[in-house]
Amino acid sequence: MQKKATPTNLDASILPSIDDVLSHEAVVALVAEFGRERILAFARAVIGSKRAELLSGELAPPDKESLYSDVICELGEIGAAERMNGVRRVINATGVVIHTNLGRAPLSQRAIEAINDAAGYSTIEYDLRAGSRGVRGAGLVNLIKLLTGAEDALAVNNCAAAALFVLSVFAAGREVIVSRGELVEIGGDFRIPDILNRSGAILREVGTTNRTHIKDYENAVCERTAMILKVHPSNFRIKGFTKTPTTAELSSLARKHKLIFFEDAGSGALVDLEPAGLSGEPVIGDVISSGADLVGFSGDKLLGGPQSGLIAGRRDLVERLRRDPFYRALRLDKIITVALEATLEQYARGDVKESIPALRSLLVNREEITERARRFVEKLERAAVRLRVSLVDGRSAVGGGAGPDVPLETTLIALTHPDLSDIEIEQHLRKAPIPIISRIENGQVLIDLRTVARKDESEILDALTKLQ
Ligand SMILES: *Cc1c(COP(=O)(O)O)cnc(C)c1O
Repeated sequence: MQKKATPTNLDASILPSIDDVLSHEAVVALVAEFGRERILAFARAVIGSKRAELLSGELAPPDKESLYSDVICELGEIGAAERMNGVRRVINATGVVIHTNLGRAPLSQRAIEAINDAAGYSTIEYDLRAGSRGVRGAGLVNLIKLLTGAEDALAVNNCAAAALFVLSVFAAGREVIVSRGELVEIGGDFRIPDILNRSGAILREVGTTNRTHIKDYENAVCERTAMILKVHPSNFRIKGFTKTPTTAELSSLARKHKLIFFEDAGSGALVDLEPAGLSGEPVIGDVISSGADLVGFSGDKLLGGPQSGLIAGRRDLVERLRRDPFYRALRLDKIITVALEATLEQYARGDVKESIPALRSLLVNREEITERARRFVEKLERAAVRLRVSLVDGRSAVGGGAGPDVPLETTLIALTHPDLSDIEIEQHLRKAPIPIISRIENGQVLIDLRTVARKDESEILDALTKLQ
C-alpha cells in the first residue's frame, strides 16, 4: 500500500504564493501577453505540481529562493509553448512550393491587400449601384467564367467540398462510374471511395489499375447510372503499360447516354504550366472545351489563391448547385472571396508568372536560385559563423499533390556544425523569432531559397548568425 502523504510532511511556507509569482516582472509580461486568467491557471498548476512533488518526496525540499525561480522559469516555458500553439507565420525553406502543412499557396500582394480591405464592412452581398442586397460573389463567378470558358461557376470551401457537393446533388442513390486507376487517396483523408460513399452515390468501378478503356465505361452504363467521374491522379503516376480515355472521349460517352460527366481535376491549372515542366496538370479551360459538364479544382494549389474549391461548367447544372441548400453551408467567407477574386483578377490581367508567388517559385530559373544561394553563403561567411556551409545540387518539389515526378532542379545551402547535430540546427531554425522550416538529409540541414521570399533571407541569416 502506498503511504498517503500528509501536509505535515511539508513546510508549506517555502512554496511561493500566487501573489509572489504574479508580481515577478517576467510574469507581469506574460499576463499582458496572454491575459490574467490564463496565467493564473498556469501558475496554480505549476505551484500545485511543486507541492505534490514535495509531498511525495520526489523533490527534495529546496530553499525558498530557488523554488521561486523554478516556478517562474516553468511559467516562462509554458508561455513559450503557448506561443507555438496558434497559427504563426513561418519561413518555408523546404523548397516544397505548395506545402500543405505550411498553408499551401502563399497569397499574392494584391490578395493580401484585398483581405485587409474587406476585413471590416464590405460589399460582399450588397449592390452599390442599387443600394440594396446584391448577389454574393458575383464578381468571382464572372472571373471563373472568363478564365475557364465555362457557362457558369461557383466556389465552395475546398475541392473536397466541391466533389462531395456535386456527387450528392447529382448522384445520390445512383451509380457513378470510376476507373480503378483513379480511386485515389489525397493527403490521407480525401479518398474517392469514401467521398462517394458519404455523398450517397454508389461506386461502380471499371477497368484495371493500369488500363481502363472507353468500352469498360460503356459496358457499365445502366439505368442506375447518374454520372461518369474522372479523377486526376494528383500525387502519383502510373507508368508503363497504361491507358485511360481522354476527357473528350468520356464527355461524348456521357452525352450519348444522357449522363453527367464530372472531372475532379484536383489542383488543375488556369494557365499552361508546361514551361515549369508541369504538363501533367489539366488546364481547366481545356477540360471545359473538351466537353466536361462540370469540373472541380482547388483554389490553393497551383492556382495560387486561398483555400477554396471551384466548380465550373454547364449553366443548368451550376444553377442547380446554387439553389441546393447544401450550397449555403459550403459558401465562401468574405475574406476568402476577396482573396480569390484578387487572385483571379491577376490571371485576367495576365501577369501571373510574376505576381502569384506560387507560380513565381515554380517558374523561377535555376540560375537565379543559385545566384541567390551564392550571395547568401558569402554573407554567412562574412558573419564568421562556425557553421560549415556549402552549396549542393538538389530538387525542390511542387507539393500539394501535384506534379509528383516533376524534377525541379535547385541549389541548396547545406549546413553542418562542429558541435551541433543536424537535428539541433534544424530545431534552432524552427525556434527562431519567425520560425524557419528547413529539411534534413544525410546529416545536413538544407535550405532551399526557391520558396523563400527575398525579404526573408535576412531573417534566416540572423538566425544562423546567432548559432555560434
Ligand atoms: C487535392 C485534391 C483534392 C482535394 O482538394 P482540397 O482543395 O484540398 O479539398 C481532391 N481531388 C484531387 C484529385 C486533388 O488533387
